Amino acid sequence: MSGPAHSSRTPGKSNIYFDLLEALRQPDCPVCRLIDRDVRQYIDGFFYESLTVVERRAEIRAARGFCSVHGSILAGHSRTLGTAIIHQDVINDVLRGLPGHDDKRSSLRAVLAGVRDAVTRAIKPQRECVLCSHERNQERIVLETLINGIDDNTLRSAFERSQGVCLPHVQIAAGLRGINDVSLRDFLALERKILQTLRSQLEVFIHKYNGSYVHEAMGDEASAPAHATKLVSGRVFGRRA
Ligand SMILES: [Zn+2]
Ligand SMILES: [Zn+2]
Repeated sequence: MSGPAHSSRTPGKSNIYFDLLEALRQPDCPVCRLIDRDVRQYIDGFFYESLTVVERRAEIRAARGFCSVHGSILAGHSRTLGTAIIHQDVINDVLRGLPGHDDKRSSLRAVLAGVRDAVTRAIKPQRECVLCSHERNQERIVLETLINGIDDNTLRSAFERSQGVCLPHVQIAAGLRGINDVSLRDFLALERKILQTLRSQLEVFIHKYNGSYVHEAMGDEASAPAHATKLVSGRVFGRRA
């Protein structure tokens, strides 16, 4: 989403609009696809800034590093020096809060009660993973572009032919402020049709898989279980009901 501007060749259309059109032609949730690509591109600049801007370092310390999903992306990333510096910072701060040698004069129970509290205070994140925060903001922008643009014929037909938005992103979309009510209703109606189609494909898949249909060749429904898994789970991190 940070590529060269398309707006010069098509006035009124944002880069994200064109990124969305492209993502809608690919399998699975277009929002997940764009956000995953965006955060991987974002990490380079983010790492540079995190090493030089005091506030960024403080945010990462307060979040106690990154969530496990973003941590695993970083682990395979080339910026290993930055990873070392950021995590040294986090571990330094944790060690400052972790209790040291136990107090021999107190009872073990009293010491442990204090230790448990101190360990919790030292390790528990005080804010969410900063890359999750970034994703949350990007998700909002992509979903607003999709839903507010649903009356654009090109975008609408691309969405109708797509495999749909994952359920976690539909839930986020439904909670967005500043979305046109009619557009949200139209978006949800189209998403519902996509879900109904997928449900039918799952029914056919299950039917063919059972017994007498085992010899029958699978059609589009062959990939329905994999699509359904991604559609239901999505890739929305750090959020729970
Ligand atoms: Zn999604
Ligand atoms: Zn995260």
